[in-house]
Amino acid sequence: MAAAGKLTIDDLDVAGRRVLVRVDFNVPLEDGRVADDTRIRASLPTLRALLDRGAALVLVTHLGRPKGRVVEELRLDPVARRLAELLGREVRKVDDVTGPQARAAAAALEPGQVLLLENVRFDPREEKNDPDFARELAGLADLFVNDAFGTAHRAHASTEGVARFLPAAAGLLMAAEIAALSRLVNNPERPFWALVGGGKVADKLRVLERLVDRCDGLIIGGGMANTFLTAQGIDVGASRVEPDLFDAARAVMGRAGERGIPLLLPVDVVAADRFAEDAQTRVVPVEAIPAGWMALVVGPASLDAVDEAVRPARTVFWNGPFGVFEWPAFAEGTRRLAQVVAELDAWTVVGGGDSAAAVHQAGVADRIDHISTGGGASLEFVEGRPLPGVEALADTAGGAAARPG
Ligand code: ADP
Ligand code: MG
Repeated sequence: MAAAGKLTIDDLDVAGRRVLVRVDFNVPLEDGRVADDTRIRASLPTLRALLDRGAALVLVTHLGRPKGRVVEELRLDPVARRLAELLGREVRKVDDVTGPQARAAAAALEPGQVLLLENVRFDPREEKNDPDFARELAGLADLFVNDAFGTAHRAHASTEGVARFLPAAAGLLMAAEIAALSRLVNNPERPFWALVGGGKVADKLRVLERLVDRCDGLIIGGGMANTFLTAQGIDVGASRVEPDLFDAARAVMGRAGERGIPLLLPVDVVAADRFAEDAQTRVVPVEAIPAGWMALVVGPASLDAVDEAVRPARTVFWNGPFGVFEWPAFAEGTRRLAQVVAELDAWTVVGGGDSAAAVHQAGVADRIDHISTGGGASLEFVEGRPLPGVEALADTAGGAAARPG
């Protein structure tokens, strides 16, 4: 698989070698069980490929935010049990990360065997990217594979540091993310439309600042849109807006104007009399949001306009729900948008944790070409920021670094 200039597991000779694999098993636990094993399942193709080729695996992941100390509820034993069920083979779990248990178990590994280290964030040196800790991790194996795209934007010992001490390649998930996001930012088939919503206005503005120079049309919805509408002089009532970002929003609108590309904002919204699931609601034009009410969803006329505008697109990137989709009474706008994107005759990419959840909720995940597993990481990639966990992987011979152009 092409990974824009980075080695992948297909380039490694792993037979008879111990491979340290950074996986993303940051899964929800409930009553000592894995409540959602999606991320574990997502790692299986890489793990199976390595095992089939005769490797022994040392797996390392974080789970939750233990902040550098041992938190009993965040131990990985339930993860090891679930992984063993899914892989159909024994998974040995140790209670330390690079301590005596881990070292002994790693040294004893035979080809085809799997070892899971304890939660790497139990060690305060992980998030500090401490070189001694990275060297200890590297000492457990002969090769390093990173398949945890979701943490690739963090320079931690198990994502970046360890790659300095071992030959380092991308796993299949990581390679697919790099390939899809590189194509999106560097080589999109045109017309290329970006749909941006959600709540994290500051983060999304940085993404918009880059996309406005690269895409052929922009659509802004969700919570984001309220800041843009206010920056244009529209009174959005009690909707949450970020006054510090009015100038940045105006700059994006100005840039779109200079480039002559369409930038669509909502023309109507579902307004609510308070921020609550059972609030009273009314569909109103954006100019007519009642005082004290707030815009919680992009309205139906706006979604008709979106549907019409994006139809010719050949590439679509969607990040950020177009409403408070978690509440059934406010889920419709985002569901409709997910359907519109799914039905397009375009190559479609969805990024962002909540957006991915919305796509699954709408039941159209199988009709989206790439759903990024990395929330923050995919946004930083689209912004053009080099991701430390990707940069640290070995370049292919003669290949350019997988830097987002
Ligand atoms: P993603 O995780 O896909 O990047 P964000 O985290 O930025 O997206 O935003 C998702 C959140 O934005 C959701 O919790 C959703 O309820 C919220 N949201 C969307 N539209 C609105 C709105 N109009 N008002 C308030 N919150 C909103
Ligand atoms: Mg989110």
